[in-house]
Amino acid sequence: MNRDKRKTIIAGNWKMNMLASGAEAYANDLLSNVSGFEAWCEAVICAPYPLLSAVRDAFRGGAVAVGAQNMSEHESGAYTGEVSAAQLTDIGIGYVIIGHSERRALFGETDEKVNKKVHAALNSSLIPIICVGESLEQRELGITFDLVAMQVKTALFGVSKDFVSRAVIAYEPVWAIGTGKTATPEDAQAVCKAIRDVIGGLYDADTAESVSILYGGSMNDKNAAELLSMQDIDGGLIGGASLKPESFSVIINAANR
Ligand code: PEP
Repeated sequence: MNRDKRKTIIAGNWKMNMLASGAEAYANDLLSNVSGFEAWCEAVICAPYPLLSAVRDAFRGGAVAVGAQNMSEHESGAYTGEVSAAQLTDIGIGYVIIGHSERRALFGETDEKVNKKVHAALNSSLIPIICVGESLEQRELGITFDLVAMQVKTALFGVSKDFVSRAVIAYEPVWAIGTGKTATPEDAQAVCKAIRDVIGGLYDADTAESVSILYGGSMNDKNAAELLSMQDIDGGLIGGASLKPESFSVIINAANR
Protein backbone atom coordinates (compact mmCIF):
# COMPACT_ATOMS: atom_id res chain seq x y z
CA MET A 1 0.00 0.00 0.00
CA ASN A 2 1.11 3.56 -0.51
CA ARG A 3 -1.36 5.64 1.45
CA ASP A 4 0.09 8.96 0.34
CA LYS A 5 -0.48 8.33 -3.33
CA ARG A 6 -3.66 6.30 -3.67
CA LYS A 7 -6.68 4.94 -1.88
CA THR A 8 -6.62 1.57 -0.13
CA ILE A 9 -9.74 -0.42 -1.02
CA ILE A 10 -11.05 -3.55 0.68
CA ALA A 11 -13.88 -4.86 -1.49
CA GLY A 12 -16.03 -7.85 -0.68
CA ASN A 13 -17.53 -9.86 -3.52
CA TRP A 14 -20.57 -11.70 -2.23
CA LYS A 15 -21.08 -13.42 -5.62
CA MET A 16 -24.52 -15.14 -5.69
CA ASN A 17 -24.70 -15.48 -1.90
CA MET A 18 -26.55 -13.85 1.00
CA LEU A 19 -30.09 -12.44 1.25
CA ALA A 20 -31.44 -8.89 1.56
CA SER A 21 -33.04 -9.87 4.86
CA GLY A 22 -29.58 -10.58 6.30
CA ALA A 23 -28.03 -7.22 5.37
CA GLU A 24 -28.85 -5.43 8.61
CA ALA A 25 -27.39 -8.14 10.84
CA TYR A 26 -24.30 -8.38 8.64
CA ALA A 27 -23.73 -4.60 8.80
CA ASN A 28 -24.17 -4.51 12.58
CA ASP A 29 -21.72 -7.38 13.05
CA LEU A 30 -19.18 -5.88 10.69
CA LEU A 31 -19.33 -2.39 12.15
CA SER A 32 -19.03 -3.66 15.71
CA ASN A 33 -15.81 -5.49 14.77
CA VAL A 34 -14.16 -2.75 12.71
CA SER A 35 -11.89 -0.63 14.85
CA GLY A 36 -12.12 2.46 12.62
CA PHE A 37 -12.07 3.73 9.06
CA GLU A 38 -9.17 5.94 8.02
CA ALA A 39 -9.72 8.55 5.32
CA TRP A 40 -7.37 6.78 2.91
CA CYS A 41 -9.16 3.45 3.17
CA GLU A 42 -12.52 2.50 1.70
CA ALA A 43 -14.45 -0.69 2.41
CA VAL A 44 -16.92 -1.84 -0.24
CA ILE A 45 -19.49 -4.63 -0.42
CA CYS A 46 -20.28 -5.82 -3.95
CA ALA A 47 -23.65 -7.51 -3.64
CA PRO A 48 -26.11 -9.15 -6.05
CA TYR A 49 -28.52 -6.64 -7.66
CA PRO A 50 -31.60 -7.42 -5.53
CA LEU A 51 -29.57 -6.87 -2.36
CA LEU A 52 -27.98 -3.54 -3.29
CA SER A 53 -30.59 -1.25 -1.71
CA ALA A 54 -30.74 -3.31 1.48
CA VAL A 55 -26.94 -3.25 1.84
CA ARG A 56 -26.87 0.49 1.10
CA ASP A 57 -29.54 1.09 3.77
CA ALA A 58 -27.83 -1.20 6.28
CA PHE A 59 -24.64 0.85 5.94
CA ARG A 60 -26.43 4.19 5.82
CA GLY A 61 -23.94 6.72 7.09
CA GLY A 62 -21.56 5.62 4.37
CA ALA A 63 -18.85 3.84 6.39
CA VAL A 64 -18.99 1.08 3.78
CA ALA A 65 -19.64 1.77 0.08
CA VAL A 66 -21.78 -0.49 -2.08
CA GLY A 67 -20.89 -1.99 -5.44
CA ALA A 68 -22.50 -4.18 -8.09
CA GLN A 69 -20.82 -7.26 -9.52
CA ASN A 70 -21.52 -6.53 -13.18
CA MET A 71 -23.35 -4.07 -15.43
CA SER A 72 -24.33 -3.63 -19.05
CA GLU A 73 -22.13 -1.78 -21.50
CA HIS A 74 -25.32 -0.27 -22.98
CA GLU A 75 -26.94 2.92 -21.72
CA SER A 76 -30.56 1.76 -21.94
CA GLY A 77 -32.97 -0.06 -24.22
CA ALA A 78 -34.02 -3.54 -25.23
CA TYR A 79 -31.53 -5.60 -23.22
CA THR A 80 -33.76 -7.86 -21.13
CA GLY A 81 -32.16 -8.91 -17.87
CA GLU A 82 -29.38 -6.34 -18.01
CA VAL A 83 -28.72 -3.44 -15.61
CA SER A 84 -27.28 -0.09 -16.69
CA ALA A 85 -24.72 2.16 -15.03
CA ALA A 86 -27.35 4.90 -14.59
CA GLN A 87 -29.65 2.47 -12.80
CA LEU A 88 -26.84 1.73 -10.35
CA THR A 89 -25.81 5.32 -9.68
CA ASP A 90 -29.49 6.29 -9.33
CA ILE A 91 -29.74 4.13 -6.19
CA GLY A 92 -26.44 5.32 -4.75
CA ILE A 93 -24.10 2.59 -5.91
CA GLY A 94 -20.48 3.72 -6.17
CA TYR A 95 -18.54 0.73 -7.48
CA VAL A 96 -18.94 -2.04 -10.02
CA ILE A 97 -16.83 -5.15 -10.59
CA ILE A 98 -16.06 -5.57 -14.28
CA GLY A 99 -14.60 -8.61 -16.01
CA HIS A 100 -14.50 -10.95 -13.01
CA SER A 101 -12.99 -14.26 -14.11
CA GLU A 102 -16.30 -16.02 -13.41
CA ARG A 103 -18.02 -13.70 -15.87
CA ARG A 104 -15.24 -14.24 -18.40
CA ALA A 105 -15.28 -18.03 -18.01
CA LEU A 106 -18.98 -18.72 -17.47
CA PHE A 107 -20.67 -15.90 -19.39
CA GLY A 108 -18.30 -15.34 -22.31
CA GLU A 109 -17.20 -11.87 -21.31
CA THR A 110 -14.38 -10.80 -23.63
CA ASP A 111 -11.66 -8.18 -23.16
CA GLU A 112 -13.50 -6.01 -25.71
CA LYS A 113 -16.73 -6.21 -23.76
CA VAL A 114 -14.83 -5.40 -20.57
CA ASN A 115 -13.45 -2.30 -22.28
CA LYS A 116 -16.95 -1.13 -23.26
CA LYS A 117 -18.19 -1.66 -19.70
CA VAL A 118 -15.22 0.25 -18.28
CA HIS A 119 -16.14 3.23 -20.48
CA ALA A 120 -19.80 3.00 -19.52
CA ALA A 121 -18.93 2.86 -15.82
CA LEU A 122 -16.48 5.78 -15.91
CA ASN A 123 -18.87 7.89 -17.99
CA SER A 124 -21.48 7.42 -15.24
CA SER A 125 -19.05 8.15 -12.41
CA LEU A 126 -19.08 4.59 -11.15
CA ILE A 127 -15.70 3.27 -10.01
CA PRO A 128 -14.93 0.13 -12.02
CA ILE A 129 -12.97 -2.63 -10.29
CA ILE A 130 -11.44 -4.21 -13.38
CA CYS A 131 -10.43 -7.84 -12.87
CA VAL A 132 -7.46 -9.37 -14.66
CA GLY A 133 -5.47 -12.51 -14.02
CA GLU A 134 -4.06 -15.69 -15.46
CA SER A 135 -5.24 -19.31 -15.29
CA LEU A 136 -3.00 -22.03 -13.86
CA GLU A 137 -2.20 -23.21 -17.38
CA GLN A 138 -1.19 -19.70 -18.43
CA ARG A 139 1.00 -19.34 -15.32
CA GLU A 140 2.69 -22.65 -16.07
CA LEU A 141 3.27 -21.55 -19.67
CA GLY A 142 5.10 -18.50 -18.29
CA ILE A 143 2.79 -15.97 -19.95
CA THR A 144 1.32 -14.35 -16.80
CA PHE A 145 2.93 -10.96 -17.33
CA ASP A 146 2.16 -10.75 -21.06
CA LEU A 147 -1.40 -11.89 -20.57
CA VAL A 148 -2.15 -9.52 -17.69
CA ALA A 149 -0.54 -6.62 -19.58
CA MET A 150 -2.77 -7.36 -22.56
CA GLN A 151 -5.89 -7.54 -20.37
CA VAL A 152 -5.02 -4.20 -18.75
CA LYS A 153 -4.25 -2.49 -22.07
CA THR A 154 -7.46 -3.73 -23.66
CA ALA A 155 -9.59 -2.82 -20.63
CA LEU A 156 -8.19 0.73 -20.61
CA PHE A 157 -8.19 1.23 -24.38
CA GLY A 158 -9.46 4.74 -25.14
CA VAL A 159 -9.74 5.71 -21.45
CA SER A 160 -8.41 9.22 -20.88
CA LYS A 161 -5.74 10.05 -18.32
CA ASP A 162 -8.23 11.96 -16.13
CA PHE A 163 -10.57 9.01 -16.02
CA VAL A 164 -8.01 6.28 -15.42
CA SER A 165 -7.13 7.58 -11.95
CA ARG A 166 -10.68 6.69 -10.90
CA ALA A 167 -10.38 3.13 -12.13
CA VAL A 168 -9.29 0.28 -9.87
CA ILE A 169 -7.51 -2.83 -11.14
CA ALA A 170 -7.87 -6.15 -9.30
CA TYR A 171 -5.18 -8.72 -10.02
CA GLU A 172 -6.90 -12.04 -9.44
CA PRO A 173 -5.00 -15.16 -10.48
CA VAL A 174 -7.83 -17.47 -11.55
CA TRP A 175 -6.19 -20.48 -9.85
CA ALA A 176 -6.38 -18.67 -6.50
CA ILE A 177 -10.07 -17.72 -6.62
CA GLY A 178 -12.17 -19.78 -4.24
CA THR A 179 -9.49 -22.47 -4.02
CA GLY A 180 -7.77 -21.61 -0.74
CA LYS A 181 -4.52 -21.21 -2.72
CA THR A 182 -3.08 -17.72 -2.43
CA ALA A 183 -0.33 -16.16 -4.51
CA THR A 184 2.72 -15.49 -2.37
CA PRO A 185 2.98 -11.83 -1.37
CA GLU A 186 6.10 -11.58 -3.56
CA ASP A 187 4.40 -13.09 -6.64
CA ALA A 188 1.30 -10.94 -6.16
CA GLN A 189 3.48 -7.85 -5.67
CA ALA A 190 5.45 -8.62 -8.84
CA VAL A 191 2.31 -8.78 -10.99
CA CYS A 192 0.74 -5.71 -9.34
CA LYS A 193 3.97 -3.76 -9.95
CA ALA A 194 3.97 -4.96 -13.58
CA ILE A 195 0.39 -3.69 -13.93
CA ARG A 196 1.46 -0.32 -12.55
CA ASP A 197 4.31 -0.24 -15.08
CA VAL A 198 1.86 -0.99 -17.90
CA ILE A 199 -0.33 1.93 -16.76
CA GLY A 200 2.81 4.09 -16.55
CA GLY A 201 3.63 3.17 -20.14
CA LEU A 202 0.10 3.96 -21.33
CA TYR A 203 -0.12 7.27 -19.44
CA ASP A 204 2.74 8.43 -17.19
CA ALA A 205 4.39 7.54 -13.88
CA ASP A 206 2.30 9.93 -11.75
CA THR A 207 -0.93 8.57 -13.18
CA ALA A 208 0.25 5.01 -12.57
CA GLU A 209 1.04 5.88 -8.95
CA SER A 210 -2.50 7.20 -8.46
CA VAL A 211 -4.29 3.99 -9.51
CA SER A 212 -5.29 1.53 -6.77
CA ILE A 213 -4.32 -2.05 -7.63
CA LEU A 214 -5.92 -4.80 -5.53
CA TYR A 215 -5.04 -8.45 -5.06
CA GLY A 216 -7.80 -11.08 -5.08
CA GLY A 217 -7.67 -14.84 -4.66
CA SER A 218 -8.32 -16.53 -1.32
CA MET A 219 -7.35 -13.45 0.69
CA ASN A 220 -8.51 -14.03 4.25
CA ASP A 221 -8.14 -12.89 7.84
CA LYS A 222 -4.86 -14.83 8.18
CA ASN A 223 -2.97 -13.74 5.06
CA ALA A 224 -4.35 -10.23 4.45
CA ALA A 225 -1.86 -8.25 6.54
CA GLU A 226 1.15 -9.72 4.73
CA LEU A 227 -0.34 -9.23 1.26
CA LEU A 228 -1.37 -5.66 2.13
CA SER A 229 2.13 -4.85 3.35
CA MET A 230 3.43 -5.05 -0.22
CA GLN A 231 4.20 -1.72 -1.88
CA ASP A 232 1.99 -2.13 -4.96
CA ILE A 233 -0.93 -4.02 -3.39
CA ASP A 234 -3.48 -1.36 -2.47
CA GLY A 235 -6.17 -3.57 -1.07
CA GLY A 236 -8.10 -6.72 -1.80
CA LEU A 237 -11.06 -8.15 -3.67
CA ILE A 238 -12.36 -10.79 -1.31
CA GLY A 239 -14.93 -13.48 -2.05
CA GLY A 240 -15.41 -16.21 0.53
CA ALA A 241 -13.95 -14.32 3.50
CA SER A 242 -16.28 -11.34 2.89
CA LEU A 243 -19.34 -13.48 3.62
CA LYS A 244 -18.44 -13.62 7.31
CA PRO A 245 -18.37 -10.20 8.99
CA GLU A 246 -15.94 -11.46 11.63
CA SER A 247 -13.38 -12.40 8.91
CA PHE A 248 -14.01 -9.42 6.65
CA SER A 249 -13.60 -7.01 9.58
CA VAL A 250 -10.14 -8.46 10.34
CA ILE A 251 -9.11 -7.69 6.74
CA ILE A 252 -10.54 -4.16 6.96
CA ASN A 253 -8.69 -3.63 10.25
CA ALA A 254 -5.44 -4.90 8.68
CA ALA A 255 -5.80 -2.29 5.93
CA ASN A 256 -6.51 0.49 8.40
CA ARG A 257 -3.47 -0.22 10.53
C1 PEP B 1 -13.35 -13.22 -5.89
O1 PEP B 1 -14.49 -13.66 -5.95
O2 PEP B 1 -13.02 -12.26 -6.56
C2 PEP B 1 -12.40 -13.88 -4.98
C3 PEP B 1 -11.17 -13.43 -4.92
O3 PEP B 1 -12.87 -14.95 -4.27
P1 PEP B 1 -12.11 -15.70 -3.06
O4 PEP B 1 -11.65 -14.63 -2.10
O5 PEP B 1 -13.16 -16.58 -2.46
O6 PEP B 1 -10.98 -16.44 -3.64
